[in-house]
Amino acid sequence: MSNRTIALDDRLYAYLLANSLREPEVLRRLRAETLTMARASMQIAPEQGQFMALLVRLMGATRIVEIGTFTGYSTLAMALALPAHGRVIACDVSDEWTAIARRYWAEAGVADRIDLRLQPALDTLDRLIADGEAGRFDIAFIDADKENGLNYYERALTLLRPGGIVLIDNTLWNGSVADPARDDGETAAIRALNAALHGDERIDLSLLPLGDGLTIARKRGNG
Ligand code: CA
Repeated sequence: MSNRTIALDDRLYAYLLANSLREPEVLRRLRAETLTMARASMQIAPEQGQFMALLVRLMGATRIVEIGTFTGYSTLAMALALPAHGRVIACDVSDEWTAIARRYWAEAGVADRIDLRLQPALDTLDRLIADGEAGRFDIAFIDADKENGLNYYERALTLLRPGGIVLIDNTLWNGSVADPARDDGETAAIRALNAALHGDERIDLSLLPLGDGLTIARKRGNG
């Protein structure tokens, strides 16, 4: 029992939330509004948002790039944990989804900490690298189209300072990664990314069974 991760049934999950979740009211309302949408499952779990906010504070992060913003829950959770001069560059392609995000960012009073870039994320990341921003970010959060996972990861690693972390969402993909019957493109892409990270000597690695699987990769090197 004790040397493997515990399984969470509904009762234990409810206990975990009741005894640890400190979700700000504005995030609670954003989550509730997003849950009414057809793509609600793309929203991260609230305990994951709280964990990511904790990481922001633990690292003293001031510069974050987010790849895949959706309705802005993770963006807002991290922005609220930043100092006033901190910045999140948020990448998405949906004006519809990020319009909801912008409304809540403004309500929370942190819109000035979030720089939304509405174009394909690879374009934004390549532009940042071309503009000399490599090695200048503390955290990169990847939660976008799964087929581009490795492309996002490589650019994120370039943008991070040594000691910075890449967070990758959905690395357990509702269990499909371990199901031999699943061979669709998204599942295959996530498996390939997980395998690549496992053997990547440039990073320290942990895959947390939090939410739908959250991988943390710390960029090695001095600094
Ligand atoms: Ca996700």
